[in-house]
Amino acid sequence: MRHAARVPHWANWAGNQHAQPVRVETPRDTDEVVRAVKQAAAERLRVKAVGAGHSFTAIAATDGVQLRLDGLAGLRSVDRGSGLVTVGGGTPLHVLHGLLAAEGLAMSNLGDIDRQSISGAISTGTHGTGARLGGIATQVRGLELVTGDGSVLTCSPTENPAVFSAARVGLGALGIVTAVTLQCEPAFELRASERPLPVGDVMRDLDDLAAANEHVEFYWMPHTELALLKENNRPARGDTGRRLGRMRAWFDDEFVANTGFGLVCRVGRARPSLVPRLNRVVARAITPRTFTAPSYDVFVSPRRVRFVEMEYAVPRAAAGEAFAAIRDVIERERLEVSFPVEVRVAAGDDIPLSTGSGRDSAYFAIHMFRGAEFERYFRAVEARMRDLHGRPHWGKMHYRTAADLRPAYPRFDEFLAARDLVDPDRVFGNAYLETVLGP
Ligand SMILES: Cc1cc2nc3c(=O)[nH]c(=O)nc-3n(C[C@H](O)[C@H](O)[C@H](O)COP(=O)(O)OP(=O)(O)OC[C@H]3O[C@@H](n4cnc5c(N)ncnc54)[C@H](O)[C@@H]3O)c2cc1C
Repeated sequence: MRHAARVPHWANWAGNQHAQPVRVETPRDTDEVVRAVKQAAAERLRVKAVGAGHSFTAIAATDGVQLRLDGLAGLRSVDRGSGLVTVGGGTPLHVLHGLLAAEGLAMSNLGDIDRQSISGAISTGTHGTGARLGGIATQVRGLELVTGDGSVLTCSPTENPAVFSAARVGLGALGIVTAVTLQCEPAFELRASERPLPVGDVMRDLDDLAAANEHVEFYWMPHTELALLKENNRPARGDTGRRLGRMRAWFDDEFVANTGFGLVCRVGRARPSLVPRLNRVVARAITPRTFTAPSYDVFVSPRRVRFVEMEYAVPRAAAGEAFAAIRDVIERERLEVSFPVEVRVAAGDDIPLSTGSGRDSAYFAIHMFRGAEFERYFRAVEARMRDLHGRPHWGKMHYRTAADLRPAYPRFDEFLAARDLVDPDRVFGNAYLETVLGP
């Protein structure tokens, strides 16, 4: 195992969380993770695995030993017949796509980007969209964990089921994930349809859109009446679809969505009063397009403009109220918001601390350009989402604590019991976990 000579300062992708670990270790296999955990526990240091640092909360921060699991990336086993695939816990999602594609397989659903590690993604409940699909953690069928005393524990629905149940969305609190077994499916393509529509129409029809599409989401540009509706579905048999030319893909995904949008955000940050006008210009630039591509290319997009984000899951039936509340906050507080509000849906699941635990959900993500004031906006929206029984994404900004999160999760204590089993000494603790789970 290699030790870094000078301990580097750590910051997350958004640049809003910082930490100074005592040391950084880069284990290359499960045995080296075991040694690192035992050594840290003997020194009474806490341990935290970090993925790609794409969480906006301090969930991955540590002042103890930081483990980087890049050495535990790649395929461990593949069963093409059942679609069960086991990968190292440090595997980045963008590497995973390639590994799966080479085996003729793919993940059923993904979020907006693929820079995260598989363990980081499941640990915070990362999700995509689709009324009949849960988050990425619902695709997990087995885990290998190194627990607080340095033991290796394998778990699945039939082996250590209580730990498995909780550890799928484990918040980094239940051990170091050294391997993940995923239920994959034969590789597939998606036909993407993207078009601007009046936001009122989209909200009115959200239930029908969710029922009619495998994946549906929309972005509403604050200070305008326009939404960009995205519907992704498997093409009919024999329909090879229209490919997106390289130039068009570059123009839409790089030039407009990143370079151009980044410029608009910078102008808006310097002159907030211009934001509503700028948003109207951005909204007018949205043009319809349809294309067909491998599933992972349709699910994910490059995100180079840095921002901070809060995301709330509310019961599906409260989607209309939640959207109206966000609009109301922006108007009432006279906020200048240059980033779109993203709305998605997902099926309920059986994972204790998943935001979709026990209920179908609608997800509302709000963003602010990095460096712009966000707290007034986020706190005001959070107050309204809490009233709607909202649950915050564990990896995105929020101000909730264990006392008011426990009532939001009927199975909260089940999670704490699993934690007492695998990490009674809180070797994997940090300040964030103390806030959201209690001491
Ligand atoms: C641009 C951008 C787009 C995003 N899009 C989406 C989206 O579409 N949908 C969505 O739901 N979220 C989204 N997110 C949030 C993101 O998916 C989550 O924050 C995710 O946790 C980040 O993964 P990571 O690998 O960066 O993990 P990190 O942020 O590094 O860590 C997250 C947690 O996982 C733990 N962890 C990491 N590796 C291990 C391991 N091996 N064992 C145990 N614990 C571990 C860490 O300790 C920490 O507790 C987005 C974030 C950004 C910045």
